[in-house]
Amino acid sequence: MPKISPTKTKMREQPPKERVRNNLEVPYGYNEEEAITEAKRGLQCKKPLCVKGCPVETDIPGFIDLIAQGDFQGSIRLLKGKNVLPAVCGRVCPQEEQCEKLCVLGKKMEPVAIGRLERFAADWEDQKGEAELPPKKRSTGKKVAVVGSGPAGITVAGDLIQMGHEVTMFEALHEPGGVLIYGIPEFRLPKRIVAREVENVCRMGVKLLKNIVIGTSLTVDELLDEYDGVFIGSGAGLPWFMDIPGENLNNIYSANEYLTRANLMKAYRFPEYDTPIARGKRVATIGGGNVAMDSARTALRLGAKKSFIIYRRSRVEMPARDEEIHHAEQEGVIFNLLTNPVAYHSTGSGWVKEMECLRMKLGEPDASGRRRPVPIEGSNFRIPVDVVVVSIGNSPNPLIPNTTPGLETGKWGNIVIDEETGKTSKRGVFAGGDVATGAATVISAMGAGRKAARAIHQYLKDGRW
Ligand code: FAD
Repeated sequence: MPKISPTKTKMREQPPKERVRNNLEVPYGYNEEEAITEAKRGLQCKKPLCVKGCPVETDIPGFIDLIAQGDFQGSIRLLKGKNVLPAVCGRVCPQEEQCEKLCVLGKKMEPVAIGRLERFAADWEDQKGEAELPPKKRSTGKKVAVVGSGPAGITVAGDLIQMGHEVTMFEALHEPGGVLIYGIPEFRLPKRIVAREVENVCRMGVKLLKNIVIGTSLTVDELLDEYDGVFIGSGAGLPWFMDIPGENLNNIYSANEYLTRANLMKAYRFPEYDTPIARGKRVATIGGGNVAMDSARTALRLGAKKSFIIYRRSRVEMPARDEEIHHAEQEGVIFNLLTNPVAYHSTGSGWVKEMECLRMKLGEPDASGRRRPVPIEGSNFRIPVDVVVVSIGNSPNPLIPNTTPGLETGKWGNIVIDEETGKTSKRGVFAGGDVATGAATVISAMGAGRKAARAIHQYLKDGRW
């Protein structure tokens, strides 16, 4: 057996100094030679543990082996049998916590770069021209409404259309894709890639209706009058704030609003799009997740001289992907760890001027298993800022539950579901993704969509609830 390289094949990327001045994607992706070299690190395990780490059950050894043999078309065909969003997942999935974490090779050396190879196969097909579509079963004559066109909705729609059902996807915004389009920035996930993957689902026959807010334009009960089943994948788009003095001052945004203005409303393409957004010189982002890293990096690209992360725990507890933290550090984002804001102070005319913070220390682990941040009394200090982005979490928007009698919700406003089937408390209504779990990941939303599609198919066949 040839000697296996102990490290992943490197992926070339834009140098940090250059990329903070543009919005182009940071890593370039593998070329064919690099992909084959990396794929050959795969061990072709008899019992592939990596597959167990993938919520959509991708045949990982299978697609990697095909890349190793140079059969890129076969590889992408196999991938798409299980995953309608391979170019997205290859870029943003937390592989280090899922498939790559369980990779057998990873016990002794770096795991196989599964995400990079998935991205390669999807991009190879894109460069080749029009994507091949998976086969569809004969029409069943059944109709399903899917609410929301994020990863959960797209997966349900893609699976059900292949099973022969008629699918209509309702999207509140003017562009489909959910967080992939309005939240994750261009430099991490180019919009063209999301649009292409949504377009493939539409080419399979899914009907997409945009600018329709379910709960306002139409209710779930009205959908049930017309459709045999409804899937709700409306995400978790309601931002949290800290409820501290001064939080209503001008130029204090939720990350949702800041990133939506930058991405969906294309502030990043100024002057082509003159979207109103505060372009501060000193921008502070509160939080330590992927959303916070995206906001802090976006601030630099919008012209900030200093972009700070303010996080109340230490780096070890940060929920963002390692790669995102690393990229933010490379680009010059300043990390103020063990620091928590307690108030904002104004210029006197309604705009934020300073944030007052407390230093923290770590105590015992809390319910999340992470060490609890404990304030150090009297450690107050101020940081001059002109824009603040609050990125401390989101919960599901209450609009659909409030307008749908009989739909049970949990403590955080999440729709309560049976985890194995996505069934809600209301007959004929299924749900999954962030609307059920609270803010989570692309692949977990897709995994929930896959399970719900199977259960919807069964329900449409036998009518049993
Ligand atoms: P969403 O993607 O939120 O999609 C829901 C869709 O439903 C939206 O299009 C919304 O407009 C629509 N909708 C809402 N209400 C209605 C209504 N009433 N009627 C009609 N349509 C409606 N995850 C990762 O795995 N890796 C990452 O790197 C990562 N980075 C992230 C960065 C940011 C900035 C954010 C915000 C999230 C990130 N996530 C990441 C999380 C991930 O994007 C989400 O977990 C995932 O998108 C959830 O999918 P979903 O389909 O449940 O919901």
